[in-house]
Amino acid sequence: MVEATRRIAPDHLQQLRRSCAEVITPHDAGYDDGRRLWNAIHDRRPAVIARPTSAAEVAAAVRFAREHDLEVTVRSGGHSHAGIGGANGGLLVDLSSMRGVAVDPGTRTARANGGALLGELDVAAQAHGLVCPTGVVGHTGVAGLTLGGGVGRLQRHFGLTIDNLAAVELVTADGRLVRATDTDEPDLFWGLRGAGWNFGIATAFEFRLHPFGPDLHRGVLSYPASEVRELWSLFRDYALAAPDAVSCIFGLDRAASDAGYSDEMVGKLIVYFAWNHSGAAEDVERDTAGLRSGPKPLTTTIGSAPYLDVQSAHDLAFAWGSRSFIKSHNANDVRPAALEELVELVAGAPADGSFDITALGGAIGRIPEDATAYAGRTSAFDLSTGAGWSDPAEDGAVMDWCRRVMAVVEPDRALGAYANGNADAGPEESRRIYGDAKLARLAALKREWDPDNVFHVNPNVAPVRADA
Ligand SMILES: Cc1cc2nc3c(=O)[nH]c(=O)nc-3n(C[C@H](O)[C@H](O)[C@H](O)COP(=O)(O)OP(=O)(O)OC[C@H]3O[C@@H](n4cnc5c(N)ncnc54)[C@H](O)[C@@H]3O)c2cc1C
Repeated sequence: MVEATRRIAPDHLQQLRRSCAEVITPHDAGYDDGRRLWNAIHDRRPAVIARPTSAAEVAAAVRFAREHDLEVTVRSGGHSHAGIGGANGGLLVDLSSMRGVAVDPGTRTARANGGALLGELDVAAQAHGLVCPTGVVGHTGVAGLTLGGGVGRLQRHFGLTIDNLAAVELVTADGRLVRATDTDEPDLFWGLRGAGWNFGIATAFEFRLHPFGPDLHRGVLSYPASEVRELWSLFRDYALAAPDAVSCIFGLDRAASDAGYSDEMVGKLIVYFAWNHSGAAEDVERDTAGLRSGPKPLTTTIGSAPYLDVQSAHDLAFAWGSRSFIKSHNANDVRPAALEELVELVAGAPADGSFDITALGGAIGRIPEDATAYAGRTSAFDLSTGAGWSDPAEDGAVMDWCRRVMAVVEPDRALGAYANGNADAGPEESRRIYGDAKLARLAALKREWDPDNVFHVNPNVAPVRADA
């Protein structure tokens, strides 16, 4: 790594320092802090870190990297599970000095800078009684999340984060600043909504906002896992017809000691239903009746809380420095035999391994599949597994376990695998994420905007023809 830095002659580094507000090398005091990623399993050592404060500085950094043959990596929130907000060697463009969100309540729009975090967008929008559907942890980057789609608590009601995106400004591989909207560079705008990291460095996003809040209505019901088949049937049939205002999750987890379970249940496997209702308080009982129509739950938690409190409630539990692994893909149903196998696997999971099925559909599913690069709007559910742990000695066992879990539901796979929900990266993953047809369209777009694959440290679309 130091070798890579030495290859950049001091006068060349001076050139970068003149065009970019902050430049950090391995010899600088801030290097170790600057190269850190949210997921502690990844230890990346870039040769040089550029921290621009404007789109012009981002463009200068890209041009510098290309002139000096340095691999380009990009980071906004640093939350990639795959640790791709950095690499060994090369130039890391770190947008953490480009945070900030401005809301115009008159037009109900928000402008987020390329390095903004979700919590900034949530707070700025709620200050005017507005919302953009984002993700569930406030310190996640707007950029990485949005460019992949953006799933969270309000998406069945208001669509994916990209469905609320009006414009992206980005620096392209040749250092140009381009604005993409439905009417300006519409093909590029199509690709930015689902595979966006491939086409440049986003320096700003404009979002459409919706009147909302301040409260979100919520519930969690838990049941013994022995009833997994019946519970899945109930959940599936409810979710397939659920009102848009209800987002819901079917989960397999172990009963926590602080969650109101009897002593003999603690540590045992449970099935839970969790929902968020983003409509009027008086509609909650009616809208969730189907979900509550099962056997008597082991535990019941129902209430309302300010949306901003809910959105930041997990910020500490998912603090920087976590070790984490996740995998996911879409499905329309899960076979009963697979459910039984999952019960066994999760009961014996390493770390805090769990398995979730999140209902898609609603506003997500009403946008035509070919309207954006994001793949899988026609699929009913996202199946995902993940774990967090702290001991590096557990890394291999946890990752193997997560892969085994997803192998059980491989036969249930339907179109789409959320790019931001997969810690495994590589060309085969991109095929699974987008499917052959979309990958071919994306590859053609990539040949137009980034033929040399400058931006490749991401869920990458190679600029090659399938028949090449
Ligand atoms: C605790 C936690 C909670 C999460 N919750 C959700 C959730 O609720 N919903 C959801 O959809 N996802 C969620 N995710 C996944 C998240 O969307 C991805 O990890 C996403 O990549 C994070 O974006 P980032 O900017 O923080 O990532 P980074 O690690 O900074 O970057 C990730 C990728 O995006 C690229 N990139 C970053 N910034 C830019 C930019 N400005 N322009 C172009 N490319 C860029 C990078 O090159 C890299 O390939 C969560 C992740 C974590 C760790």
